Amino acid sequence: MFNRSIFTVLAAVLAFTLISCLTGDSDNRPSKEVTLSIIKPDAVENNNIGEIIARFEKNGLRISGMKMVKLNEKEAGDFYSVHKGRPFYDDLVKFMTSGPVVVMVLEGDDAIKKNRELMGATDPEKAAAGTIRKDFAKSISKNAVHGSDTPETAETEVLFFFKPEEIKNRF
Ligand code: ATP
Ligand code: MG
Repeated sequence: MFNRSIFTVLAAVLAFTLISCLTGDSDNRPSKEVTLSIIKPDAVENNNIGEIIARFEKNGLRISGMKMVKLNEKEAGDFYSVHKGRPFYDDLVKFMTSGPVVVMVLEGDDAIKKNRELMGATDPEKAAAGTIRKDFAKSISKNAVHGSDTPETAETEVLFFFKPEEIKNRF
């Protein structure tokens, strides 16, 4: 009788482990992340700050750092240095220095991917309905928001704008 119970328990544990491995449960768990968001000069100028922030909050992202800044040419150039040499780089720097921007640290489950989904495609004409760029951006060069694209860029970009003590994690 005792042996049979042990056998049943072992069989149950084995089955659970097998199912977890097959379904990849452990890999699918959302990871807690932080990401950098910028509300770009066009969206600030159009008074869309509040509506854009509401999209983040309504979709489970939390703001753990926020400020309004006006970038100079060096700061904007350094921030987008990965695009240096591309045909749109000079215009991008000019646009990003054309007015104040709101920079935010967003945190939450899969925050990097979630923010990029909420933003929509780089070109608002190609962005899905209901995305920030579809609703608030006019063109590929004036596209309302920026979002980090990997955990590595997220870390670098957050530290570009924020000192550690300016971030209040809310996980
Ligand atoms: P961001 O980095 O601002 O979140 P993204 O990751 O969607 O945008 P990137 O490829 O990183 O797109 O380009 C950075 C920015 O450079 C874009 O947001 C856009 O404003 C500008 N840009 C990119 N491609 C073009 C293009 N073909 N013509 C004009 N501007 C462009
Ligand atoms: Mg990018």
